[in-house]
Amino acid sequence: MSIPQTQAAAQLQTDFLSASDAARLVMRTGITQVLRLMSEAIEADFMRWQDFDKSARTAAHSASGVIELMPVADAQDYAFKYVNGHPHNPQRGLPTVMAFGALADVATGMPRFVSELTLTTALRTAATSAMAAKHLARKDSRSMALIGNGSQSEFQALAFMELLGVRELRLFDIDPAASQKLLRNLQPFLAQFSARVSIAASAADAVKDADIVTTATADKTRATIIQAPLLQSGMHLNAVGGDCPGKTELAAAVLHRASVFVEYEPQTRMEGELQQMPTDFAVTELWRVLQKQAPGRTSAEEITLFDSVGFALEDYSALRTMHRLARQAGLLSQIELIPSLPDPKDLFALLMQSHRAQVIQLSGRQTA
Ligand code: NAD
Repeated sequence: MSIPQTQAAAQLQTDFLSASDAARLVMRTGITQVLRLMSEAIEADFMRWQDFDKSARTAAHSASGVIELMPVADAQDYAFKYVNGHPHNPQRGLPTVMAFGALADVATGMPRFVSELTLTTALRTAATSAMAAKHLARKDSRSMALIGNGSQSEFQALAFMELLGVRELRLFDIDPAASQKLLRNLQPFLAQFSARVSIAASAADAVKDADIVTTATADKTRATIIQAPLLQSGMHLNAVGGDCPGKTELAAAVLHRASVFVEYEPQTRMEGELQQMPTDFAVTELWRVLQKQAPGRTSAEEITLFDSVGFALEDYSALRTMHRLARQAGLLSQIELIPSLPDPKDLFALLMQSHRAQVIQLSGRQTA
């Protein structure tokens, strides 16, 4: 049975969300509302962890950085993200992290949605960090040290103020201009949270007496920004920046002192702070805490660590959230990614159509 051509053409359209429309969408919806919705979506998808076909991302490393592909699927939707990490890009006028991705129908393979994911990655990373901290940090956590004040930092700060009740932020970056930028960008939000922000003189100064410590630094080195003597009982660490082989932020002794929680263990063993540890070093996957199969924080004194590297499932949740919000806001455009063919077995006809159109155009020009 053949289906009408207009219907066939319509089902071959792919929705598209550009970087500027994603920004418009976030501002129209409200940044903190998007962070909240994304965090809820990520938590709901981690709660059905068993539904997903999961794998560690594939990475292509070079001297200057890494390019990664991150796929995941359930029975309905297939999602993937392309993302890079090039710590010296800002000196070339490019962001360290750039990303795009897609959602496709599992039943047909038809790509339904192609989106920017650079802004969306920052939102979903912060939403995941806050979701993890909600289950692992002390409930009375109010102060956070934020080390590494680049692209991810505003999103981390806002997510922790909105979703965790953080009211005091202490910033540190080896680049003072980055901290000044973060301070400036956070100013419009401080009154609504009755929050205070200050710039610390060192990482140690920022961390002193903090309930939560977030590290979001970018350097392709085995860095040890947080050393064990800086730890205080009851702290929660949210280590975001160490996310590929050879790139860490914490000293190994920090992991020995903490209960360590990860997204997807096979990936974190290669990419996270965990890469420094023996292969039998015990960690807990976060979904097990959410599904109450494993304990999260067990006492007010315990030190907890979320060794975040970024997992494909978070992008699946983020893509679906942005697609839904953009559709409601009328901010999607359509792109012709897949050719529209009167006979789906006659791909060659596409070339013939194009050739005929060129001949008509040319003969029109000659007669004019
Ligand atoms: P960015 O380059 O915009 O900012 C990084 C900042 O870290 C810079 O301002 C730099 O000066 C600072 N920095 C570097 N070394 C430091 C040190 N020793 N002490 C203090 N500050 C230091 O990068 P970004 O987009 O903000 O990303 C930060 C990191 O987070 C990157 O490593 C990135 O790969 C990682 N990341 C992780 C996830 C995840 O899901 N876990 C997601 C996105 C990005």
